[in-house]
Amino acid sequence: MTSTGNPFQALRDSADFARLRDLSVRIGSDPLQVQGAGGNTSLKGGGAMWVKASGTWLADAGTKDIMVPVRAADLAAELAAGGEPEAAAFVAPPGAPKGLRPSIETTLHAAMPQRVVLHTHCVATIALAIREDGTAILRRELADLNPIILPYVMPGLPLAQALMAEASPDRPVAVLGNHGLIVAGDSPGGAEALLFDVSGRLERAVAPPLAAEATGPDSPNALFSSRYRPVEAAALQAVARSPRHLALAARGPFFPDHVVFLEPDLRIADENEDLETAADRLTRDGQAPTLVLLPGVGAAIRRDASPAAEAMARGLGDVIARVPPEASVQALAPAEVAELLGWDAEKYRHGLSLAPSQG
Ligand SMILES: [Zn+2]
Repeated sequence: MTSTGNPFQALRDSADFARLRDLSVRIGSDPLQVQGAGGNTSLKGGGAMWVKASGTWLADAGTKDIMVPVRAADLAAELAAGGEPEAAAFVAPPGAPKGLRPSIETTLHAAMPQRVVLHTHCVATIALAIREDGTAILRRELADLNPIILPYVMPGLPLAQALMAEASPDRPVAVLGNHGLIVAGDSPGGAEALLFDVSGRLERAVAPPLAAEATGPDSPNALFSSRYRPVEAAALQAVARSPRHLALAARGPFFPDHVVFLEPDLRIADENEDLETAADRLTRDGQAPTLVLLPGVGAAIRRDASPAAEAMARGLGDVIARVPPEASVQALAPAEVAELLGWDAEKYRHGLSLAPSQG
């Protein structure tokens, strides 16, 4: 390969690029790390960076071209100088694959100084990062890693600025309040090992996941109708059947992708109300709910729901199933939800995810 002189081509041709692609498939295929188009990975060198494109799925990294070249050093310098850089303006030759642009979280990757950065919506991390007592638990479990622990900050530029204020080469882990996890390293293998080390520690620190089979009778027929079918996620079925977990879930939304890919407010049937009656009652602006939870019975999802919505329903169940129902939790405030829904970049990502053929 004649890659001399172009740091982007040199990175792209490197063994580490192939390793990053392989690990992207692994973490993208793990629903406890990544749901749908969430999560992103990057590799830097010589001022250059390749980062996942917006709206694409990490799980597709092995079969589709989903990485975009970005001038990371220039982007980081503008961030550090207090500017408001737009990642799309930093795309470098050879350019993004057709129709794609850098992830809305590109600035997070530029803000971290390490060579490899992995960002996931790890459910164990989120299950702690929505709790009032979560920071103390995170500090205890990750003490040796001197983690950066941020409160909820609006994704995009505000979050990147908050992260950059604390980022340093000796702090490879960041927990983003009501959002997820960032793990970094000098090599793809090192970063991946650290990701699963951190996730494993946090999985052991959260409440044991609610077991679907222990939470009540199975009434699958009640979850089928002309417009609906049962959600595939066992954890969300278990949440619907556990009154205390269902009450906890209803206090959300707790994290941005729930707001973007599902209705922000959970639509819950009344006791003994059947699925279609509930769906009609819970229809807003002519839109039947994507998800309907039947207390004590289970959760149904629209038959025409996108794969992203199904993945998010699973993520929601996996998070709530790991939170003790008596825990004090912090939901996103109404103003934060509105900010997420009005955000053009998120709408763009949502649109791509509804049309997987474009991925
Ligand atoms: Zn994220």
